[in-house]
Amino acid sequence: MTLERHGFQAEVSRLLHIVAHSLYSDKSVYLRELISNASDACDKLRYLALTQPELLEGGGDLAVTLTTDKEKKTLTIADNGIGMNKDDLISHLGTIARSGSAKFAEELSNAKTQEQKVSLIGQFGVGFYSAFMVADKVEVISRKAGESQGWRWVSDGTGEFTVEAVDKPSRGTDIVLHLKKEEGEWLEAARLEHVIAKHSEHVALPIHLKDGAEERHVNQQAALWTKSKSEITDEQYRDFYRHIAHAWDEPWATIHFKAEGKIDYTALLFIPSQRPIDLFTPERKQSLKLYAKRIFITDQSDEILPGWLRFVKGLVDSEDLQLNISREMLQASPVIAKIRAALVKRILSDLNKRANDDDKAAYESFWDNFGPVLKEGLYEDVTQRDEILKLVRFRTTASDGWVSLTDYVARMKEGQKSIYYITGDSLDTVARSAQLEGFKAKGIEVLLLTDPIDEFWIPAVEKFGEAEFRSVTRSGSDLDTVKASEGEKEEEKKPVAENVDSLISFLKITLKDSVKDVRLSERLTDSACCLVADSGDMDMHLERLLRQHKR
Ligand code: ADP
Ligand code: MG
Repeated sequence: MTLERHGFQAEVSRLLHIVAHSLYSDKSVYLRELISNASDACDKLRYLALTQPELLEGGGDLAVTLTTDKEKKTLTIADNGIGMNKDDLISHLGTIARSGSAKFAEELSNAKTQEQKVSLIGQFGVGFYSAFMVADKVEVISRKAGESQGWRWVSDGTGEFTVEAVDKPSRGTDIVLHLKKEEGEWLEAARLEHVIAKHSEHVALPIHLKDGAEERHVNQQAALWTKSKSEITDEQYRDFYRHIAHAWDEPWATIHFKAEGKIDYTALLFIPSQRPIDLFTPERKQSLKLYAKRIFITDQSDEILPGWLRFVKGLVDSEDLQLNISREMLQASPVIAKIRAALVKRILSDLNKRANDDDKAAYESFWDNFGPVLKEGLYEDVTQRDEILKLVRFRTTASDGWVSLTDYVARMKEGQKSIYYITGDSLDTVARSAQLEGFKAKGIEVLLLTDPIDEFWIPAVEKFGEAEFRSVTRSGSDLDTVKASEGEKEEEKKPVAENVDSLISFLKITLKDSVKDVRLSERLTDSACCLVADSGDMDMHLERLLRQHKR
């Protein structure tokens, strides 16, 4: 039988190098990653077997088995899930396919210090490759469900791997870790059990531990979400969040509820406290897991939550979904549509509670992380617009902190009818804009909008209550009607210089095709002139953004 040699994709090699040299990170990460892969593989098989029962080959009891061999110094993590054939081994274990991992690899190579790298690995895990933290050689022996040929993949984690055909009587995957000299602790049952209890307790699959002649079942395997809230500790919620979201931070919010009535379902949702690195990939994928009667169906459905809530992690388990529902059927399912509407409502109302909580800093940390995503909902979902507007926070000219629209409106000047805003690329540049001079002089607060998404929702939303949103870069922002408050001295009306008309005519002729009009303005105090958009025209920053995107 021939042995094929392959090189790793460049990103993988880089990742492997960093993983192998990150000496101080929590190495137990590898066990959670490999067990979670085994669990994913079993979930995939279980789902496919709903329509193709022959894939189970008569063995439907899915499990993960850890076996230690003290003589050979190996730890094997075996599952009887979907398995991999030759092509799968080469593509899944030789390249980084997920956009999230690619981004991760990029961030890793940008990280300068060892601490930054370790913290990135700690935050996100590195999937299969974390095996090389404890092993100097990894063997993957696998046979795909429904196929008869087995395959063996081997690598020492530097540059290359080999693949060859082998006999494998049972379906599934064995990951054999040849432990590094100093990693002997992973041959101790007690050490393994401790880590499993910590990170993998909620894997919905039996985990067996074989140590010499002894074999034990080591995890609880209870579906946490089926228990009542009072039976679950904060620590259990946190561990479950980390397991299901592949995360290492604390959940910022935990939302657990059962709905009974026309549709029965349980939702266990989490909002992370750290922003995941793949939040702004173009796919805008949500990642909620969908279960039907405790059986995993998919985490690839875009129907269960809108894109603007894609930062929400967790799961939904319904009694009213057919087990063999296909992904296409999900799209048309009225049950899913109803669950989605209920989840959106619940998440927004919980956010609203937190927004009005005394702990302002906590809400602001959420806003820092996920505000730009939530704002996408303002133009995508008209029905939720009013609810979302209550949650939005802004930087403004009047405060160093975050400001709500309610705060803004409460501070509006006598005679002020509009909510003024300016858009741009960064806080620094917009705050220094000459267009703000007249507003500053009158003490009028202006929203400083710097997220690209702001250009899209602002024209769609138009109003908050009675007040219209109005760009300061448009002419016709009638500052005249607003009185300056006491203490802010109203600029004395300077008599207009006599020859200003001829100056304007001169400018109009000179700038002819470059400008639409030249006007005398009330809005400047220090600068001599500024550019504005005409009242009916596109906002200046939007025009610039669009021009940049058009080649
Ligand atoms: P992720 O699990 O996030 O996709 P990993 O690096 O952990 O990333 O794994 C990469 C891929 O390798 C998986 O997506 C899966 O296709 C495949 N894989 C890994 N372990 C197994 C396994 N035990 N059984 C089947 N496929 C596996
Ligand atoms: Mg994985």
